Amino acid sequence: MKVHEETLSNDVPDAADPFPQHKDNAWSKVLVLTFVVAPLLAAGYGIYSFWGAGVGWLEIGLLLGMWSFTGLGISLGFHRMLTHRAFVARAPTRAVLLIAGTMAMQGPASDWAATHIRHHAKADREGDPHSPLDGFWHAHFGWLLRDQFVRTGLAHEKLMADPITRFISKTWTLWATLGMVLPGLIALGITHSWWGFASGMLWGGFIRVFFGHHITWSVNSLGHLFGTRPFQTTDKATNNFVVALLGWGEGWHNNHHAFPRAAYIGMRWYQVDIGKYVLTILKWVGQVRNLHIPTRAERRARRRSRTSGA
Ligand SMILES: [Zn+2]
Ligand SMILES: [Zn+2]
Repeated sequence: MKVHEETLSNDVPDAADPFPQHKDNAWSKVLVLTFVVAPLLAAGYGIYSFWGAGVGWLEIGLLLGMWSFTGLGISLGFHRMLTHRAFVARAPTRAVLLIAGTMAMQGPASDWAATHIRHHAKADREGDPHSPLDGFWHAHFGWLLRDQFVRTGLAHEKLMADPITRFISKTWTLWATLGMVLPGLIALGITHSWWGFASGMLWGGFIRVFFGHHITWSVNSLGHLFGTRPFQTTDKATNNFVVALLGWGEGWHNNHHAFPRAAYIGMRWYQVDIGKYVLTILKWVGQVRNLHIPTRAERRARRRSRTSGA
């Protein structure tokens, strides 16, 4: 617990790096590149067929359904719950959120969270895995191929101490594959055709991964470049309405860097945060508790004054 709080501070000595960057082998880089390029090609084909033959409601439903499930898995499971411990979930809900996040094809939960802890500790400074100060495309996805992941070290070990996180992280390829095959199987069950299976997998799998990836990556790239900065932070994080709308609330990234442990990233009534609405429902039905919510006074204290210019 204590280590986690230390890892979120900006003053971690490099000598005992609790989140060392990992040197990935060639095979894992080929795998990462495949899952950058394949969804891109699938999305190209998808747009082509959308304007040509048209796309059925089943495919659109699978795309939206899987995108929502896996996107909320990243936002609520990987990000707010696992990385920032913004709330506590009952064991089955914790498992479902982490499995949903793993289906988003962004690697094991433990590595995702440890890498993101490093991002907060070093945001927009030397050692940040994906700062746009090192270039827009680096921040968007170039960093995935540049040995920036944290796959070992103290922060990673602490995450892996939780048996649910450990199990789902160690078996992540299984869940990621299931996320691709499941929409195909649903389509097969409805259409009773293998063409339906392929089409379901294309839209609910590959094209959905394309959208999910670019939205998460936009938080790292656009969310540190374009938008407003109502709170004083040591980095360049911004509030961006479009990224927030498409990214389950994650686009209120200046709010988030000012209050990393806050369960609700949208902090004003007009700051759309779909993750917040889902969390509220999960709270009502008793699945999550101990939500961290900064007080009005805490928020006021962090607000930039209009004359500070910082
Ligand atoms: Zn950030
Ligand atoms: Zn964060």
